[in-house]
Amino acid sequence: MTNKELADLIFPNITKTIFDYEKMYPERNLKEGAKVVRFAPSPTGFMHIGNMMSAVINYCLAKASGGVFFLRNEDTDQARSVDGAVDFIYHILNYYQISPDEYEKQGKIVGNYGPYIQSERIEIYHTFIKYLIEIGRAYPCFLTPEELEEIREEQAKRKKRIGIYGRYAKYRYTSNEELAKKIQNGEKYVIRFRSEGDFNRKFVFEDLTQGKIEFPENDIDVPIMKSENLLPTYHFAHVVDDHLMRTTHVVRGNEWMSSIPLHYELFKAFGYKMPKYIHTSLILKKDEENGTIRKISKRKDPEALMFYYEEKGYPVPAVIDAVLTIANSNYEEWRTNNPETPFYEFPFSPKKMSTSGALFDLDKLDNISKNYISKMSAGDLYQEYLNWALKYNKDIASLLEKYKEETILFLNIEREIKKPRKDYENYSSIFPKSWYMYDEEWPEEPNYELMKITDKEEIINIMEEYLNNYYNSSASQDEWFNQIKTLAEKMGYASDMKEYKENPLNYKGNVADFTTVMRVVLTTKNMTPNLYDIMKILGKDRMLKRLEIFKEKYLN
Ligand code: GLU
Repeated sequence: MTNKELADLIFPNITKTIFDYEKMYPERNLKEGAKVVRFAPSPTGFMHIGNMMSAVINYCLAKASGGVFFLRNEDTDQARSVDGAVDFIYHILNYYQISPDEYEKQGKIVGNYGPYIQSERIEIYHTFIKYLIEIGRAYPCFLTPEELEEIREEQAKRKKRIGIYGRYAKYRYTSNEELAKKIQNGEKYVIRFRSEGDFNRKFVFEDLTQGKIEFPENDIDVPIMKSENLLPTYHFAHVVDDHLMRTTHVVRGNEWMSSIPLHYELFKAFGYKMPKYIHTSLILKKDEENGTIRKISKRKDPEALMFYYEEKGYPVPAVIDAVLTIANSNYEEWRTNNPETPFYEFPFSPKKMSTSGALFDLDKLDNISKNYISKMSAGDLYQEYLNWALKYNKDIASLLEKYKEETILFLNIEREIKKPRKDYENYSSIFPKSWYMYDEEWPEEPNYELMKITDKEEIINIMEEYLNNYYNSSASQDEWFNQIKTLAEKMGYASDMKEYKENPLNYKGNVADFTTVMRVVLTTKNMTPNLYDIMKILGKDRMLKRLEIFKEKYLN
């Protein structure tokens, strides 16, 4: 029985050849140097920060070179697929504005190299597997799970490499007639690649980040098609897809590096040129408990999953900047020199990516983000904050809608200046620092103990005197402060700090103690943005109400 006959027996309905597909998916007509890259996640879990790094790098490589960025859904591991994972991928790419040029969504294919969902490409994979069987580079293997376990145990006991190779690859030596008989008997099988490699021979592979690496050749007959649903394995599918989709650069996690010998041999079996590879570094973090550096963990670290950043309300550009900062050692400097340039114009250099791991720390993200938020206009910040609240905190959203003008004025305090305040690292951190601007029920009990002046009557006097006889909503900041100083003097407090330091016993206290009273009664905090502005926003009536609250809470 010939290989061709065996191949026809296994795939009777496959009539196309690999050469037909070659014609259907010709070389792309792109300008010199344009990169064709793909983001190829498996929906076996929700998108994590490592996926995000690959996606952002891909996007940069495509945009900076005038190339193509496509999304391929690698869903061949259907047993492990997670509901909602694919929708989440689309959501994230859209949310971060790194949408692919080619993709497939809800039955609609955009691009000429689809389908872009692996489970819809079975006929293509079968054609390529059929071809390998015909040329003697693949065969059906009937090893049962029990037999595979026995082999594994024997190899472990004898300290041999684990896998189906050499004499362990029993069915590579079985005649086509016998293989055909088993198939006709309905026995379960997988298709294995027939390796021609020699583990004792070496070859050199060049990764664009890690440079030249010497590997032993692959000699393992790996499964390329599983028995369930006749789906291909990742190893096989990505070779076929990256060839037919004309991928020039593969950006993928470092965990795939050890599969290079196999991928190298698979590409060679078809006579195809391998794309260039960029294996991204592992994402590391400093363990909060023991200070050691370890791999970020989807199980232990909430920031490992992409939900985190959106829920916390980190601005999109800040997250992208943080990801690129750990991806490329010269990004930070580039960003400082090019503050307004879109991130995708950054000339990403695989050589400038760490090979030992990228340390991701949230403080760094917080800094980037604080800086970014400090430069937004108050109106834009209000809008982003509201969008976040509408999704994650409806109560805050209603306050923001009710107090729109006041919120914008508050967010604008010490903003459009040379060194703006850097209070907020994300949208969820605004409310805990601004709830006192709203009259509705406060999330915290006011802490009136923050004042140096503790005599309650005195506090009430200061406030009543000031609000009723001095406060003037049209006063400039200087006039406002002069009024406060005048009142302070009148009530026995030093308005001049130097004078106070020299003769403290002549006074009840100083003007700073005096303004602290105002600040704490009005906001319940002893540190806030500029009090003059806060008073202007609150206005006299609301300030009087704050005094009533103080009386109610503090006097009882
Ligand atoms: N589907 C693989 C994964 O999610 C992708 C690896 C690749 O990009 O080739 O890990």
